[in-house]
Amino acid sequence: MSKPETPATPANFLRQIVQADLDAGKHSKIVTRFPPEPNGYLHIGHAKSICLNFGLAQEFGGECNLRFDDTNPAKEDQEYIDAIKSDVEWLGFKWAGEERYASNYFDQLYEWAVHLIKSGKAYVDDLSPEQAREYRGTLTEPGKNSPYRDRSIEENLDLFARMKAGEFPDGAKVLRAKIDMASPNMNMRDPILYRIRHAHHHQTGDKWCIYPSYDFTHGQSDALEGITHSICTLEFEDHRPLYEWFLANLPVPTQPRQYEFARLNLNYTVTSKRKLKQLVDEKHVSGWDDPRMSTLSGYRRRGYTSASIRNFCEMVGVGRSNGVVDIAMLEFSIREDLDRNAPRAMCVLRPLKVVITNYPEGQVEQLELPRHPKEDMGVRILPFARELYIDRDDFMIDPPKGYKRLEPGGEVRLRGSYVIRADEAITDDNGNIVELRCSYDPDTLGKNPEGRKVKGVIHWVPAEGSVECEVRLYDRLFRSPQPEKAEEGGSFLDNINPDSLQVLIGCRAEPSLAHAQAENRFQFEREGYFTVDSKDSKPGALVFNRTVTLRDSWGQ
Ligand code: ATP
Ligand code: MG
Repeated sequence: MSKPETPATPANFLRQIVQADLDAGKHSKIVTRFPPEPNGYLHIGHAKSICLNFGLAQEFGGECNLRFDDTNPAKEDQEYIDAIKSDVEWLGFKWAGEERYASNYFDQLYEWAVHLIKSGKAYVDDLSPEQAREYRGTLTEPGKNSPYRDRSIEENLDLFARMKAGEFPDGAKVLRAKIDMASPNMNMRDPILYRIRHAHHHQTGDKWCIYPSYDFTHGQSDALEGITHSICTLEFEDHRPLYEWFLANLPVPTQPRQYEFARLNLNYTVTSKRKLKQLVDEKHVSGWDDPRMSTLSGYRRRGYTSASIRNFCEMVGVGRSNGVVDIAMLEFSIREDLDRNAPRAMCVLRPLKVVITNYPEGQVEQLELPRHPKEDMGVRILPFARELYIDRDDFMIDPPKGYKRLEPGGEVRLRGSYVIRADEAITDDNGNIVELRCSYDPDTLGKNPEGRKVKGVIHWVPAEGSVECEVRLYDRLFRSPQPEKAEEGGSFLDNINPDSLQVLIGCRAEPSLAHAQAENRFQFEREGYFTVDSKDSKPGALVFNRTVTLRDSWGQ
């Protein structure tokens, strides 16, 4: 049933709990779930929860459900449901059966609310939200009982039925559990079970005008689905006694156990759906899938692979203490994957025309270059001719000491090709260099010239056959390691990095890229890893997104 532990699956406390439960025969099969609220797109923090829940099920031969915890119709949307499903699939996981909705259980939850009323454990309260806050007390002071707390069962049943029938406006009444207004745990001070909200629901339409609270829904949904291990983040630890109270006081079919783990926090990154939504709504980014977003759809469009995100989540591990993970770890994970799996190519980002004056006009040599230095990915053809492009940054008239690229009279190797020498720089009226005249050494194809050492190797593309394209250089969206920590009176928006996107047009990619497809990934030699943008790239008008630089150069 269970796999032996290998280095790829190091111990974490949840694996140990599941293993122990299986060994003890407590369960013959484990069932977990990933329960997003469909009120935004999934972000990198959710990936940790997905990998954990689906991963445990996979590893121990169990099942994992996808359940939308959709109790707040005002903030939810079908767009989010569709995006969440496609992100989970993209991450490489398959949920058991159809996706589920907490709203599927609204009838059952209503019956259970009535059950609590009938057992004298729930009541309809008329306190206004302000009054309720006052009665609730504080962490150091006990709360006070609401004057409506001792309504008779009959009156409560009648009022609750009339709440459901739509007789009262939003906020006029709530249904509360009758637990303990003096409990040191605020969650136990007669928590709200139902609110009146005359709102259309994306799944149940206009059937309901009262909606169960998240707390009244979550644990019972787990019980209905036979979830064996209800895994959630640490902030729900204080809610556990309440969930257990519901399980003890309702005729639920199963008794899930809740376990909490620490959220994933990443430096330089915002992972709150509310803030991500604000970035989208206020157009600080182009959408939820903007390649600078910490959303899975953003990372995907940026060129991250799902394998690299899964590896990252495994590396981060699962613990019970909150900490902040360095984003460099995520970048390491994507570099490691792409180094192995992305074919190499050349793309000149800031083209400078080069004419090889001693190369015969009309002559073309079809050079063969491996697609990958180590893996067997075949070859690509690179035509070498008299006119080509190199990057502007690879030529300097007056270079600093130790410069290994091209300077007047100096030599450099063109990657996979010949050694050339810079003879003359042509400038325009303003002194800008517009063209280089060079000569090549015909004896240097694939070997160094006799007695001369040419240190520098630069990338290039032929003028004829190379593909004009757009390249988007992305950087971190926030310049501060703790973007949510704003200055007094400011907001996280003040920490946005103004240089997080640089768009380069008129770049030139080597001819073999002419037919690159959306989401194809490449290492552009010396420039970084790039992917074909899935939204804006078209045949004949390619757009590449920089996924990550070759090295960690942040702050240098
Ligand atoms: P947010 O704070 O971004 O609104 P949330 O917790 O409200 O997130 P849900 O849709 O309720 O979002 O989350 C679904 C699941 O993902 C929950 O089980 C939640 O615990 C988990 N999750 C959310 N954020 C993180 C995170 N940063 N690290 C680990 N798990 C997370
Ligand atoms: Mg939530």
